[in-house]
Amino acid sequence: MDTFYDQEVAAQWMRVRNRLQAEFGEAAYRSWLKPLVLKGFDGGEVVIAVPTDFMREWVEAQYAQRLMDLWEEENHNVRVIKIVTAPTTAMCQPRSQREVPVPGRPAISDNNGLSIENLSAPLDKRLTFDSFVTGKPNELAFAASRRIAESSEVTFNPLFLYGGVGLGKTHLMHAIAWQISRQDPTRRILYLSAEKFMYQFIRALRFKDTVSFKEQFRSVDVLMIDDFQFISGKESTQEEFFHTFNALIDQNRQIVISADKSPNDLEGIEERMRSRLGWGLVADLHPTTYELRLGILQSKAEMMGVEMPPRVLEFLAHKITSNVRELEGGLNRIVAYASLVGRPITLESAQEVLHDLLRANDRRVTIEEIQKRVAEHFNIKLAEMSSARRSRAVARPRQVAMYLAKQLTARSLPEIGRKFGGRDHTTVMHAVRKVDELRGLDAGFAEDVELLRRMLES
Ligand code: ADP
Ligand code: MG
Repeated sequence: MDTFYDQEVAAQWMRVRNRLQAEFGEAAYRSWLKPLVLKGFDGGEVVIAVPTDFMREWVEAQYAQRLMDLWEEENHNVRVIKIVTAPTTAMCQPRSQREVPVPGRPAISDNNGLSIENLSAPLDKRLTFDSFVTGKPNELAFAASRRIAESSEVTFNPLFLYGGVGLGKTHLMHAIAWQISRQDPTRRILYLSAEKFMYQFIRALRFKDTVSFKEQFRSVDVLMIDDFQFISGKESTQEEFFHTFNALIDQNRQIVISADKSPNDLEGIEERMRSRLGWGLVADLHPTTYELRLGILQSKAEMMGVEMPPRVLEFLAHKITSNVRELEGGLNRIVAYASLVGRPITLESAQEVLHDLLRANDRRVTIEEIQKRVAEHFNIKLAEMSSARRSRAVARPRQVAMYLAKQLTARSLPEIGRKFGGRDHTTVMHAVRKVDELRGLDAGFAEDVELLRRMLES
């Protein structure tokens, strides 16, 4: 079949991809779905190429059905989806297989090129300095962000904000952008995720539009890149970013970057880039304290205009310790429940509504303990929990440990993955399913897992 397809099909494909991304989450999308390339379309048959045989098998097993359903919804003529292995070739600089562009045309392909308004991600009105509650864990990051936003001279460059999930990095970045644009609407601010940066860059390469890409990025007054860790391992994107970065710093333009780790701890980032990231000010957001959590809850409750008994807020601050996003989620749930059933909020009703959340936050067993116990139980080295080895003898115990980590701790799938040698959250998800499945099939195995669970819980 020819590699011909028209723009409408390209648009359908784009929508299918967007939905896959929304349904399966960022990490799975990045690893498995983003590299898919639409190769051909003849009405009834869609041909999709993946770079390797292994990926083909995986995509067929995990995603083919959903792909089919989504395609059918987009285009009633589609009857068959064929997934083939074909090394990707279309790129100008195919350094990394994962950097494969989506088919189709750029939304803006005329000579005006890309505009900053189009490149910049939308800013959330609620994420301002005023709505950011400060305490010991975030005071440095907050002060540095304010300084950047309020002074007209560049004092430290770049500002590098880092910290765990849900601790306020994105909030601070939006706040900086709002503040700057309020003070001086003429300053051109470009805020976007590292992922979007990569996407734009690849699109520019594909459509031979790199000149305007460079121009756009180098003409801003403030460049803000969120979740920088995303471009680890993406060499050509990093290279491009490096040049943009240097050009902006040379012109004394402000750069703000956020990431989940400090520059030194970022993996898959070139040494010269890492060292430059640390040139300005590096500020971290620490895990929250009880006082900060209580302050955040009070402020959110006030913003929502709801009357919350102090005891309930104290209880929440005490119990939900993982991150601010969960804390907010808990509060929202209580408020929603109260308004639904039309009864005032009490400690008892709060406990009931948050039953599952609280249980997850309650258990004090750590992932390290789980790994240790499981390794002992199966008689393997503790280091195998994070090793890359995949032989059954170590892979199975590792899966059991991931399963128990999911069951017994409040850690999220990505967090668990990280503790197991930086694995992806889909790996953890797969482990959880696998262990569940085996428990159903093998009574001896089920007993083993049960025993481990009881030991860990006691
Ligand atoms: P990150 O980008 O670090 O993962 P976010 O900035 O998205 O985290 O924060 C997650 C949620 O928690 C957002 O709704 C944000 O407004 C809120 N939040 C985090 N820290 C604070 C804080 N100190 N004060 C008020 N809200 C906060
Ligand atoms: Mg964020």
